[in-house]
Amino acid sequence: MNTEIVELNEQNIDIEKLMRAATIIVNLGTVVLPTETVYGLGANALSSTAVKKIFLAKGRPSDNPLIVHVCSVEMMEDLLKDPLDLRAKKLIETFWPGPLTLVFKRSNKVPVEVCAHLDTVAIRMPDHPIALKLIELANVPIAAPSANVSGKPSPTMAEHVIQDMNGRVDMIISADRSRIGVESTVLDISSPMAVILRPGGVTLEQLQEVLGKDGVMLDNMINGVVDKPRSPGMKYTHYAPNAPLQIVRGSKENILSYIKGKIKGNDSFIGVLCSDETKSEYQGAHVISIGSVHRLDQGASNLFAVLREFDSIGVDMIFAEAFAEDEMGLALMNRLKKAAGFNIVDV
Ligand code: AMP
Ligand code: MG
Repeated sequence: MNTEIVELNEQNIDIEKLMRAATIIVNLGTVVLPTETVYGLGANALSSTAVKKIFLAKGRPSDNPLIVHVCSVEMMEDLLKDPLDLRAKKLIETFWPGPLTLVFKRSNKVPVEVCAHLDTVAIRMPDHPIALKLIELANVPIAAPSANVSGKPSPTMAEHVIQDMNGRVDMIISADRSRIGVESTVLDISSPMAVILRPGGVTLEQLQEVLGKDGVMLDNMINGVVDKPRSPGMKYTHYAPNAPLQIVRGSKENILSYIKGKIKGNDSFIGVLCSDETKSEYQGAHVISIGSVHRLDQGASNLFAVLREFDSIGVDMIFAEAFAEDEMGLALMNRLKKAAGFNIVDV
């Protein structure tokens, strides 16, 4: 399939070019679009035919549902079973547009492919001028998972998208690096207790400010505790670099001595994923820092690009330092654990 690649500047959007993208969406084709979280692979969310093309392009299992992107609250009302309650209104007012996906009971207008036959639908409003304008021009909600080949790290830069999706979609919109760099938080508000199904760009602490400390909880799956996922996407391998990855958790001294020992006692080409504070410690390995431990928001934003860099360098094995799991550290460690297939050593 021939993929048209179109460059757009989010500060000065060429509406004619974007109109071509909107026409593709209306005609049930696929368009990769930039968002503030990661690049998304979009199609008309109201059409089974269009949505099936997303699963095909990504090689995504059909029981992993998609997030529907809207540009206004009115646009989503048709997709919902019930009118918005006070809690939903408060969340929308505080966090939209932005990296918070809300899971609602759905109406019959949502094609079953979008929600993988569940009775709920996941919706968000992206905080990105190109994404919002594209949805507005197409005048339909756009279903869009991350625009990577299923299982690979999510794309935060146009070059990653082109690596994965050239030849698999009708159009790629190439724009700046994703500002947040990690996917949205998925919050299930389809029942009385709000449950975080996936940590992401909006933190647990921020949600607690709006919902109260007891008004929101983390799903057990997030730490790999239970085996029956509430969010189907949770059970699949994700974000995996080519080389095996192990997370090393413990005191700073113990982490350093464990990883250094691995580098010394090993003939293979070792990659180390660490922080600015420790990057000078690992001589003899290919070392990539995700940034300072005091700025794990930036660390989360850098993670996917760092994982892809290990692939392009071609290391045999990767050791990653564990980071603190609060604020954006929770989303960062969630992605890192999945990338490692939950291979964690406590030292
Ligand atoms: P992705 O678009 O690849 O970032 O993945 C979307 C995430 O949202 C996956 O983890 C899905 O399982 C989750 N998701 C989408 N729709 C629903 C839903 N109706 N209920 C629960 N989780 C959902
Ligand atoms: Mg994804």
